[in-house]
Amino acid sequence: MTTRVCVLGPSGRMGRAVIDAAAGRSDVRVVAALDRPGAPGVGETLGGVTASTDLASGLAGCDVYVDFTTPVATRAVAEAAAAQKRAAVIGTTGLLRDDEAAIARLAAVAPVVVAANFSLGVNLVLGLVRTAARVLGPEWDAEVVEAHHRAKRDAPSGTALMIARSIAAGHGVDYDQVKRHTRDGDVGPRPRGEIGVSTVRGGDVIGEHTALFFGPAERIEITHRASSRAIFAAGALRAAAWVAHQPPGRYDMLAVLGLS
Ligand code: NAD
Repeated sequence: MTTRVCVLGPSGRMGRAVIDAAAGRSDVRVVAALDRPGAPGVGETLGGVTASTDLASGLAGCDVYVDFTTPVATRAVAEAAAAQKRAAVIGTTGLLRDDEAAIARLAAVAPVVVAANFSLGVNLVLGLVRTAARVLGPEWDAEVVEAHHRAKRDAPSGTALMIARSIAAGHGVDYDQVKRHTRDGDVGPRPRGEIGVSTVRGGDVIGEHTALFFGPAERIEITHRASSRAIFAAGALRAAAWVAHQPPGRYDMLAVLGLS
C-alpha cells in the first residue's frame, strides 16, 4: 500500500531532497508540501504538489509527515499533528527540551521516528563506536570531529552528539557528565574519560563525522562522509513507509532498519 506523505519545508535543502527521492519510489507518494508563510517556494509546484501554508489541511490528507525544518517549526507542527494523531518522521536537529516535550506528546498518540541522521552508514557507525569504546575503555581518549556546510545553524551536529553518546554508552557513563564541546584558553590537561566534540563549518560539506580513539602509540579513526543528501532523504522515506504501520510511540532509525 502506498504511504501518503506530507513534506515540510519543500524550499529547504532536505525538503527538496525528500521530494526528489519520492519520485523514484512506489511505496510512498508526496500528497502535500507545507512551508512557512513567506518561504520562497510557497505557491510553486514541485513533484506534482503545490507548496502551501495550510498546516491543518496538509496534515489531514496524509498518512505521515516528514519534517526537516527548524526546532520552532518542529514543535509547532508536532502540536498540530497530535490533535490529528498523525504519524511523523522528524529529522530536525538542535531540538531543545520544549521541542522534545512536544514530540513526546505526539508520540503518545501516534507513531514517530526521530533521528538526527537517516543514513544507513551513520547508524552502523553508532554501533561500531559503541563496541570500540567498550573494548578500549576510557584509557583511550575518545574525541568526535564533525564538519558541515556554512549554512548549518546548530552545533555540534545532532549526529556528532549521537556518536558521542554511543561512545559514552560503550564506556558505561552518563554523557552529560563527561562531555566537552569547546576548548579555549587554559583548559588544563585532558581529564581521563572526557569525550570531546569539535565542530568545523565551511563551504558546501554535506556532513562528515570522525570518532577518534587515542591509545598509547596507536590510534583508531572511524569516519563517515555523506556526499549527497539523497541518502538522508531515502532513509527518511523508508522510515515514513515503515512508521505508518506502527503503534503509537517514539522510534529511532535503528528500529526502522531492524538493527535495535
Ligand atoms: P534549510 O534551511 O535548507 O530548510 C529548512 C526549511 O524549513 C525551509 O524550507 C524553511 O522555509 C522551512 N520551514 C521553516 N519553518 C517552517 C514551518 N513552520 N513549516 C514548514 N516549513 C518550515 O535546512 P536543511 O539543510 O534542509 O536542514 C533542515 C534540518 O534538517 C536541520 O535541522 C538539519 O540539521 C537537519 N538535517 C537532518 C538530517 C538527518 O538525517 N536527520 C540530514 C540533514 C539535515
